[in-house]
Amino acid sequence: MPRYRTSSEAETIALGERLARELPPRGVVLLIGNLGAGKTTLAKGIAAGLGAASPDDVSSPTFTLIHEYGGGRVYHIDLYRLEEAKETAALGLDEIFDRDAVVLIEWGERFPEILPRERTEIRLTGGEDEREIEVTALR
Ligand code: ADP
Ligand code: MG
Repeated sequence: MPRYRTSSEAETIALGERLARELPPRGVVLLIGNLGAGKTTLAKGIAAGLGAASPDDVSSPTFTLIHEYGGGRVYHIDLYRLEEAKETAALGLDEIFDRDAVVLIEWGERFPEILPRERTEIRLTGGEDEREIEVTALR
């Protein structure tokens, strides 16, 4: 499984742009890591790499929970504020998972029961400005 290192926000955005070309053209991508790990930063790069938004247009969906880019080609979801899986029911995630879209999800690993088994997981770890970024395909 591929592993990458970055040492700045800009490098993580650039990595996201590159990963966008290697990810499956549709499906769920979990972005996994602590607060400040760089999940939203990587999402900026992936959305940009898919031609759905420019990095500056991608903001954290912490409060709105779901952002849509590129006319529905990319979704960016943040489940941080939810406490239980049943709170996701109103979001219509199954319907989003069925679309021809790349669905980026922060904090989705907290609710594995609502996720498709086939998905990509990207883990971000590290401190200061260094990040290790590991991509796993669950198929
Ligand atoms: P998350 O969504 O995981 O909570 P964000 O992407 O919102 O994290 O924030 C990451 C923070 O870490 C930003 O303030 C960014 O400037 C900083 N940072 C420092 N080094 C890096 C790096 N290599 N990659 C990504 N972000 C970095
Ligand atoms: Mg975030």
